[in-house]
Amino acid sequence: MERKLPFTQEHEMFRKTFRDFVENELVPHYEEWEKNSIVARDAFKKMGDYGFLCNWVDEQYGGSGADFLYDMIIMEEIGHRSLMGFFSPLHSAVVAPYIASYANDEQKALWLPGCVSGEKILAVAMTEPGTGSDLAAIRTKAVKNGDYYILNGSKTFISNGILADLIVVAAKTDPTAGAKGISLFVVERDTPGFERGQSIPKIGLHAQDTCELFFNDCRVPVDNLLGKEGAGFTYLMQKLQQERIVTCQGSTCLAERALELTIQYVKERQAFGQPLSKFQNTQFVLAECASEVQIARTFTDALIADHMAHKDILQEVSMGKYWICETAHKVASRCLQLFGGYGYCSEYEISRIFTDTRIKSIFAGTSEVMKVIVSRGLGL
Ligand SMILES: Cc1cc2nc3c(=O)[nH]c(=O)nc-3n(C[C@H](O)[C@H](O)[C@H](O)COP(=O)(O)OP(=O)(O)OC[C@H]3O[C@@H](n4cnc5c(N)ncnc54)[C@H](O)[C@@H]3O)c2cc1C
Repeated sequence: MERKLPFTQEHEMFRKTFRDFVENELVPHYEEWEKNSIVARDAFKKMGDYGFLCNWVDEQYGGSGADFLYDMIIMEEIGHRSLMGFFSPLHSAVVAPYIASYANDEQKALWLPGCVSGEKILAVAMTEPGTGSDLAAIRTKAVKNGDYYILNGSKTFISNGILADLIVVAAKTDPTAGAKGISLFVVERDTPGFERGQSIPKIGLHAQDTCELFFNDCRVPVDNLLGKEGAGFTYLMQKLQQERIVTCQGSTCLAERALELTIQYVKERQAFGQPLSKFQNTQFVLAECASEVQIARTFTDALIADHMAHKDILQEVSMGKYWICETAHKVASRCLQLFGGYGYCSEYEISRIFTDTRIKSIFAGTSEVMKVIVSRGLGL
């Protein structure tokens, strides 16, 4: 089915250049990054050198004012090579938009050029050991004291947490005001009182560093408050829409790759004197998977188009985030089954797709939280 997104010749040229970059600069190092549980900083810097980071940022801050499709192409090419542990989309399409939307001119001039060049790597810290889904219940506090906010508390599961130079941190400036008491701060790498834990071992996304962050009387300059005090929860809700669309895109791309790899494999692998592809079970499983992947692709593209047209699609994004992420993992699991024992071996890409699709229905809002939103939209 032809895709309805308005990809131009420029987009396709960009895709080709980025695809070459993926093959030359990411694929050869990925195994090592998985072993180290962290991507080399250098990879972000190279992305920046080629103009692959935050290229939607205004030209005055080093970007090229590109549209959202460029970030979607980057996600696609990373996804189609199963390199999901390289979290540049988090940097470019999830965290940098907080700075571009809510920072003042001085802050933008200070931070955005480094985000575009790859010298400053970004992360966002909402989740705490005691709360994830219930964001309004965070306990990290920020108390104003002269020219500083003093932060105390901890965060967990922070992607790019070890690499990050600038972290958008959610903290309570008014613990009595619930969601309205949350503010956002940009915490810089060497801020006194800020420490990071070890990388948390995970079942997938092995190349991605995920860690705890600790704030012990951490002195954050008042100039690092992002936007208005008390508006943090609203900002997070506004930006979660794009984060969830990025997650849908990643999931769909992984499912597409799983299907592609499996179709190839079942034509080659023989059992009982014929290729696996000749068994009706194989054909039906892959026909079902292909149908689901096509529906996921069509819905993902529709979300991207409506998001670019600034439509209010809270309901549709929530539906998509739940269904597409779960479907991608189901597809990965069914495809893995067709690889037999090889599917369970980590040197086979399908096993990586299986574990990397599993997280998609947990982060950026769990499937259950998405269903809470959808049912609210149904008036229930
Ligand atoms: C690899 C990885 C990377 C991550 N990256 C980041 C990051 O960069 N920044 C960041 O801030 N966080 C990050 N997270 C955290 C992630 O967003 C949270 O794990 C997620 O939001 C769920 O929170 P939780 O783990 O505290 O689970 P909980 O909130 O404790 O939920 C546990 C279970 O209860 C269910 N549940 C909760 N509330 C309801 C409800 N109202 N109705 C029905 N069921 C409910 C959940 O759906 C889930 O199944 C990351 C997590 C992982 C694993």
